[in-house]
Amino acid sequence: MSARNALTQEITAMIAQDGPITLERYMALALGHPRHGYYMTRDPFGPGGDFVTAPEISQMFGELVGVWTSEAWRLAGAPNPAQLVELGPGRGTLMFDLLRVARVAPDFLDAISVHLVETSPALRAVQRETLARAAKPVDWLGRVAEIPPGPALILANEFFDALPVRHFVKTPQGWRERLVGLGADGALTFGLAEKTESALHVEAPNGSIIEIAAQAQQVMSEIARRIVATGGVLLAIDYGYTETTLGESLQAVKAHDYVDPLAQPGEADLTTHVDFAALARAARAAGAKVQGPVTQSRFLHALGIERRAEALAKRATREQAEDIAAALHRLAGSGASRDTMGDLFKVIAVTHPDTPDLPGF
Ligand code: SAH
Repeated sequence: MSARNALTQEITAMIAQDGPITLERYMALALGHPRHGYYMTRDPFGPGGDFVTAPEISQMFGELVGVWTSEAWRLAGAPNPAQLVELGPGRGTLMFDLLRVARVAPDFLDAISVHLVETSPALRAVQRETLARAAKPVDWLGRVAEIPPGPALILANEFFDALPVRHFVKTPQGWRERLVGLGADGALTFGLAEKTESALHVEAPNGSIIEIAAQAQQVMSEIARRIVATGGVLLAIDYGYTETTLGESLQAVKAHDYVDPLAQPGEADLTTHVDFAALARAARAAGAKVQGPVTQSRFLHALGIERRAEALAKRATREQAEDIAAALHRLAGSGASRDTMGDLFKVIAVTHPDTPDLPGF
């Protein structure tokens, strides 16, 4: 067994003092602890990192999202000024590719101010570097609530999966929240709250687990309320499922492999699959219109990823052409295999009720 890292020691001391913590609190610490949190200190993307995201696979992804965004802006009445916002921008690659293709839509480029909502100082530094020569200046915000007023075009790729969740387990006494406590050997271990959760009225066999992404739903409500009040759209892309079901999807990934989520907090990425049905309910409850979810494969094909790949391949060397074909398959292929994101990833748009249907849905 490896030595307990600094964050494990800190969480252990916290539990020893005040008792077990919720899974939500554990995830928030593992991902966002100011000194030891996973996103706070590192750049986890790419072949040398822990996982690869769509904008890092190919420029085609950010370019097509860029074309979509300028079209969505036009269909939303071409508001000027408008805020262009990305939640959790990672390395800043999507925004860079988006702003490059936006040069062909000067009226759009003229209307927007660009904001990045990012908690990690390490990733803010990477984003600053990536976007140093972008077509527009950008600024950074810590929370959705800080987005300046007015119509906003909000993009979120692999953002909602990074927000902490709560788990409830069905026992003969009722639903009890899953906690992180200390085992007999002093190691972090899962346990259950003593009290039952009277607000959960779901029938299920004993041992069933329910995963509730309370923070994701709160962020969605906040954005949907804003869109209904002042216009704009949200485009969210993530791995996830389209119907709320029983079961849990917490996973820890380090160096492209699954690891124990409690083993080395802060050193592995902790995520869950996104419950798109729950996000859509939160948006509709705020009065917004929801389009999708559709698969990423269908979305990107509808936006013309094949034509874009052909155009790029015409100007490419043979080796580059092979990379483009591989990227096309990874981003927009179909089937359940691990080498394509096309069907696992889903896309949803949230708009003002008066906005017409948007491309890709
Ligand atoms: N969109 C990027 C990165 C996805 S990883 C891409 O596709 O490559 C998740 C991103 O969300 C990281 O940038 C992380 O630092 C950020 N993040 C995680 N929790 C956040 C929060 N609560 N508020 C703002 N950003 C957050």
